[in-house]
Amino acid sequence: MKDKYQLIIIGGGAGGVAAAIKANELKISTLIINSILPLGGTCVNVGCVPSKYMIERSKYIFDIKNPRFDSITISDLNFNFKDIVDSQIKFVESMREEKYEKVLSSLENVDFLEGKASFVSEKKIIVKDKIIEGGKFIIAVGSTANIPQIPGIEEIDYITHIEALHMKDVPEDLIVIGSGAVALEFAQMYSHLGSNVTMIVRGDKLFKETEPEISEYIEKYFIEEGIKILKNTNVLKFEKTNNHKGIAYTERNKIIFDKVLFAIGKTPNTANLNLEKAKVVYNNNLSIKVDKFLATSNPDIYAVGDVNDLPKRLETTAGREGTIAVLNSFEKKNAFIDYNLVPYGIFTHPSIAGVGILDKDVSSLSSECLCLTLDFDKVPKAKIINDTRGFIKMIINKENEEILGIHLISHDAVDIIHEASLVVKNKMKVSDLSQMIHIFPTLSEVFKLVSQSYQLDLSNISCCI
Ligand SMILES: Cc1cc2nc3c(=O)[nH]c(=O)nc-3n(C[C@H](O)[C@H](O)[C@H](O)COP(=O)(O)OP(=O)(O)OC[C@H]3O[C@@H](n4cnc5c(N)ncnc54)[C@H](O)[C@@H]3O)c2cc1C
Repeated sequence: MKDKYQLIIIGGGAGGVAAAIKANELKISTLIINSILPLGGTCVNVGCVPSKYMIERSKYIFDIKNPRFDSITISDLNFNFKDIVDSQIKFVESMREEKYEKVLSSLENVDFLEGKASFVSEKKIIVKDKIIEGGKFIIAVGSTANIPQIPGIEEIDYITHIEALHMKDVPEDLIVIGSGAVALEFAQMYSHLGSNVTMIVRGDKLFKETEPEISEYIEKYFIEEGIKILKNTNVLKFEKTNNHKGIAYTERNKIIFDKVLFAIGKTPNTANLNLEKAKVVYNNNLSIKVDKFLATSNPDIYAVGDVNDLPKRLETTAGREGTIAVLNSFEKKNAFIDYNLVPYGIFTHPSIAGVGILDKDVSSLSSECLCLTLDFDKVPKAKIINDTRGFIKMIINKENEEILGIHLISHDAVDIIHEASLVVKNKMKVSDLSQMIHIFPTLSEVFKLVSQSYQLDLSNISCCI
């Protein structure tokens, strides 16, 4: 390891490692520093990868208990929760090794250092008593789950997504506090695994970043599956009972629980970075202020991923921002992301996905929305797989018939959304999409069918026209 590098990257998650790969390609002498979470950061270790691994298995259990096909039932269901968690941990280790450890060790221009970094000046950081100088910096330290200050919290068994992915048993009674992607995914996952789940939601909607009808649909499906949802509700205090259970008191309810899972957002990990020493300005919520090119208030320091104050904090945006930060700081490329074109997805069943603007945002474009919707019971493939839950909503500019946004809830919505991204990116019109031949029968046909519904009564057409 040297005392001086052209680039120092703080944080070895999606954003940091993507930056290291690009810096290596450009032959920039680089140091990447990581600590707290293992290399790979949140997504591979305690986020996207393990959660989707466990969600898929919990869904399989639910499907066996609730068969979709009348002609097929499985009478003998056995599963060992510990085996699911253990195999998830092994899978995560293999993904971390393959996608992060091996990749990083193959980069000849990049050194790796394990340790917590903080700034001592605009050009220097300290890691384990060693001062290291950098020409430029990329801050990619991620974020940590919020824990609220509620009276009695220190007495009870509370967890975040990290512990929820490493539990020994399925809790009998689980409270999930929150209404975003993580809250929804974990609430349904543990419900499928057998917990009695109560969601406590401060507002009146689940996942308010999507179309309100989609929030209503997922709420309805959750309730049908037995998940209790308490909206407009706050926990006022917690208490521990004598039999190791806890009690959560809300304005109207008293809920007995084994565990409480907090999924109420995350705070950027900037508290101990000494950003003042580096002249990097941050917001009250501890996120770093950046411009659209990812530069901070210090032009030699960039910030990427969960730590900055841009929209859609995801693995996908973190990785792309890491690459862009290197291109902008060393090659003056002025690259940036159009966040409107970044698709979002929630891995519930049915899943939720969308891209582009929402109905409520159309008025800001001084245009009137032409909104087309179609239920999945109009999609032959949904009938074949016997899961017709959900619908699609397409947001169209009435003046020129350009498709501005597409949002849906359905079986595998997260897997079929990418066609919608291309449609919105390429400013396609409803007539373009309605004439595109799609494979029959597929769930993706929903994009063609909803477009055709603009001019046709779908009940009067055969399968394909
Ligand atoms: C449960 C869950 C599920 C998710 N599922 C998805 C999904 O399905 N799809 C998706 O796109 N996104 C998902 N996300 C979001 C995604 O995981 C994050 O947006 C992404 O991992 C952020 O990457 P990052 O590089 O900014 O930060 P991180 O991946 O968190 O990496 C930051 C690294 O820096 C380290 N660090 C912190 N401080 C210091 C310091 N001072 N010195 C050195 N190192 C430091 C951290 O410990 C960590 O290793 C999920 C998140 C959660 C919590």
